[in-house]
Amino acid sequence: MKIEMVDLKNQYLPMKSEIDNAIQRVIDSTNFINGEEVKLFQEELADYLGVKHVIPCANGTDALQIALMALGLKPGDEVITSDFTFAATVEVVGLLQLKVVLVDVNPNTFCIDTEKLKKAITPKTKVIIPVHLFGQCANMEEIMIIAQENNIFVIEDTAQAIGATYTFNNGKTKKAGTIGNIGTTSFFPSKNLGCYGDGGALFTNDNDLAAICRSIVNHGMKVRYYYDRIGVNSRLDSIQAAILRVKLPLLDTYAAARNKAASYYDIAFANHPKLKTPFRDKKSSHVFHQYTLVGCGINNFEIQQKLQEKGVPCMIYYPVPLHTQEAYRTIEMKEEDFETTNALCKSVFSLPMHTELTEEQLKYIAEAVLKIIN
Ligand SMILES: *Cc1c(COP(=O)(O)O)cnc(C)c1O
Repeated sequence: MKIEMVDLKNQYLPMKSEIDNAIQRVIDSTNFINGEEVKLFQEELADYLGVKHVIPCANGTDALQIALMALGLKPGDEVITSDFTFAATVEVVGLLQLKVVLVDVNPNTFCIDTEKLKKAITPKTKVIIPVHLFGQCANMEEIMIIAQENNIFVIEDTAQAIGATYTFNNGKTKKAGTIGNIGTTSFFPSKNLGCYGDGGALFTNDNDLAAICRSIVNHGMKVRYYYDRIGVNSRLDSIQAAILRVKLPLLDTYAAARNKAASYYDIAFANHPKLKTPFRDKKSSHVFHQYTLVGCGINNFEIQQKLQEKGVPCMIYYPVPLHTQEAYRTIEMKEEDFETTNALCKSVFSLPMHTELTEEQLKYIAEAVLKIIN
């Protein structure tokens, strides 16, 4: 049986003619840059998210960088984010000469620990970047209170959680990425809403920030050939936008398919003494960008290797905490402050998760896992 970590081919086949037509439409128009498709996609995504502005850009890393550039920060200003995330989140902070402050995560949600976050705040803290890891929102209720009390901006890294819904204590709901000052996402092919190349976007309800982001993505230009600020060149291609327009209406169906696979795994591994299934936060829906188990008393690399021998792909997100990486470690970072990330990097493993998993494949994967750990 052929099992993929992410099965983009089988996701494409049922919509082949729609996708192919969308691509052909752009080629026929020769409007490859900032064409009609990009305008329509940004409107359709804004509608879906219930947010005022969507600013498309070239990838999720650029989206984070542009968000930080828009906030008018000074070198040395502090940006707090999670120790347990993809390197892109911290890379852009360093590139902009801002100071990365890493905080440990909650052992259940894998998202930033809000108690430890409070302790990390200093007068220089200007931004918090919560990462909605693996498809579930960070504790946004707490984070927004902490941010407001301390006059700090919030940029939500929504690369893994587009489409997730967060419910506040008062019953109000918002889509992931539309709660903080700016949200960012990625349309990398393997993300929940993936294009066929690179792509990304920023979301905001703030008209001023939206205008600034729109100018930054286009060389800092306001009126043609008049530059107000230093910007970058970061665009979503029209072809990618056309593909995303075919896939956006399917996003909720995709999330449902991912949840169905997750439920299968949950049941297969329920109450197993050596496995902890993903925590379901009452306040956030889960869109299962990854299905990540925590193994108790078993090394995750060993599990990964044994699964691969049985033809089951398995990935370790993430094997090394950011605070120990050559590029990011500083003398201020102390091992004892990162107890949870340190433990997770040795024990988490992610199983195949995509929209096309069959019951037969799920059964094979679950049995392989159980055979290996029992
Ligand atoms: C994928 C990802 C990014 C970066 O997105 P790219 O489009 O690959 O640049 C940033 N943050 C997180 C959490 C991601 O998973």
